[in-house]
Amino acid sequence: MDGELVPWDQAKIHISTNALHYGSAVFEGIRGYYHEGEIYVFKLREHIRRLIDSARIVMLRNRYTERELVDATILTLRENRYSTNVYIRPIIYAGENVMTLDIAEVPVRAAILTFPLDKFFKKFGLRVGVSSWRRLPDTSMPPRAKAAANYLNSMLATREARMAGFDEAILLDQSGFVSEGPGENIFLVKDGVLSTPPASSAILEGITRGTVMTLARDLGYQVVERQISRVELYTADELFFTGTAVEIQPIIEVDGRAVGDGQPGPVTRRIYDLYQRVVRGQEHRYRSWLTPVYGR
Ligand code: PMP
Repeated sequence: MDGELVPWDQAKIHISTNALHYGSAVFEGIRGYYHEGEIYVFKLREHIRRLIDSARIVMLRNRYTERELVDATILTLRENRYSTNVYIRPIIYAGENVMTLDIAEVPVRAAILTFPLDKFFKKFGLRVGVSSWRRLPDTSMPPRAKAAANYLNSMLATREARMAGFDEAILLDQSGFVSEGPGENIFLVKDGVLSTPPASSAILEGITRGTVMTLARDLGYQVVERQISRVELYTADELFFTGTAVEIQPIIEVDGRAVGDGQPGPVTRRIYDLYQRVVRGQEHRYRSWLTPVYGR
């Protein structure tokens, strides 16, 4: 926290923290994978760069360099001596001062939380519903920044979906095209071609999304970024979510309609299997995406 290692139980902030009242924070979600005595942090630099970009977009005056944030992440993981998969949550936030909406008037604070995390969803294959909430447009809020306040939009969609008996929501953008999940990007497979909504569909440009685009192309699939209409979800061969937390997660049902035969499909499985090997350092070709915690 602000440059110090702090025990979990003592990692507290004051109730007047601006970010608590107004969501004035930017953050990241990063994974480290434990394999044969080593933890490999996946695309660490890319995540830290997105964090710095998010801070720049919302004008939170970040005081740390990319190098410092990378080193602090590795140090925090090492000190915890984990021998499990881990989740890493850096956050830059507006500190003590409730009486301002001017982000230039608040002390800027930063922290990196780490904790063990295995699978996010217990099941492999989700039943989803299209939300009545639309993904927030970048004429109102910047969905491309990973800003805390954006997640109220995600939380409304999530609660609505769970109340309706779904595992997860899909949000449409303001024009009615498919945008993304509350914390995931989405891919559609039709006739062997992968499609995913473009940056202009109010998505967060996911790092897993970029990874899957590369892996799918390397496997020989065509991948296109294009606007996707809601009805295409109902006739897709396969659908899956991507995200750091959810990894590659098949969607087996949308709005009560089975996707394909209602089982995770072969393209999704192939990409899932490759992804699981890549993040554990088992695919030499992609080793540059990994930062080892203990062996540097
Ligand atoms: N969209 C949103 C809204 C998210 O919160 C996330 C999770 N960070 C994603 C997409 C997926 O991004 P990534 O693959 O970088 O985790």
